[in-house]
Amino acid sequence: QVEETSSRRVVYYDTALKGQQQMENEIINGIDKAIAGHQFQVYYQPKISLNDHRIIGAEALVRWIRPDGSILRPDSFIPLYEKNGRVIDLDFYVFEQVTAFIRKNQDMGRQMVPVSVNVSALHARDTDAVAQYQAILERYGVNPDRLQMELTETATVLNYENVRRLFSDFQKAGFATSLDDFGAGFSILNLITDVPLNVVKLDYIFINKCEQNERGIYFLNQMIDMLHGLGFRTICEGAETDRQVKILTEVGCDAIQGNWFSVPVPAEKFEEMLYISKK
Ligand code: C2E
Ligand code: MG
Ligand code: MG
Ligand code: MG
Repeated sequence: QVEETSSRRVVYYDTALKGQQQMENEIINGIDKAIAGHQFQVYYQPKISLNDHRIIGAEALVRWIRPDGSILRPDSFIPLYEKNGRVIDLDFYVFEQVTAFIRKNQDMGRQMVPVSVNVSALHARDTDAVAQYQAILERYGVNPDRLQMELTETATVLNYENVRRLFSDFQKAGFATSLDDFGAGFSILNLITDVPLNVVKLDYIFINKCEQNERGIYFLNQMIDMLHGLGFRTICEGAETDRQVKILTEVGCDAIQGNWFSVPVPAEKFEEMLYISKK
């Protein structure tokens, strides 16, 4: 009995692995077709000020809408593209979609809130990454103050000097800069001391861990004060409950991004939130 179960499990595990490998190959080989066929779509997740609960920005988050209608979340393809370097192309593609979206709304007489886009640390290898981002903005006639560049680190081994230069160049070009997933476990000392930043985005683990008891709340409070003392604005991601929002407000966090207010939504839905539901 026991043997049968475990051998079945082995077979199951094997097919699951094969399926996984096949899926990874499809993702790795499918990027050009997916870009050309507009299968990557940008969703927007609102950022909310904790002063007045108004929408003060959004983060652009890519989704892969597959021809069969299924939606792939970035965690299933971004790490693979980080590994083979193609994340660079995807980041530029997403940035261009966001820029076009801002331009479209400008043409309708609407001011867009600043949108953050995720910038893989791999861009730091390329000395003209910022010029390429600027060229896209110029093509659409959009001002860099409508965009915030969010440094995302995954498995990449960072060369901090290059990242510092990249983010310094972003700021010189007029972009706001932000550090994503602060506290998620990678080396924060170099990033916090060396990289030019306007905003630090606290990872969702902060609110999850820190709401558990008084010690956690004290820690969160001191962390926010320290980040403010260093001159950064703070935003906490992943806030889901009223209690979490209350704690984040009390410890003086500036803003939140999380399902408490809204999950990431397609562009048209975000426009409704900004320009229609308010009226
Ligand atoms: P991130 O930049 O840290 O984005 C925040 C993630 O947390 C998003 O996941 C968002 O949907 C999720 N999230 C926000 N609030 C909540 C909440 O209240 N509860 C829960 N459970 N989740 C919440 P998503 O969209 O799956 O993106 C995952 C990661 O993929 C992003 O993490 C980012 O690192 C990466 N990514 C997304 N788009 C791009 C892109 O265009 N370029 C690059 N390089 N990376 C991207
Ligand atoms: Mg991000
Ligand atoms: Mg994040
Ligand atoms: Mg994250």
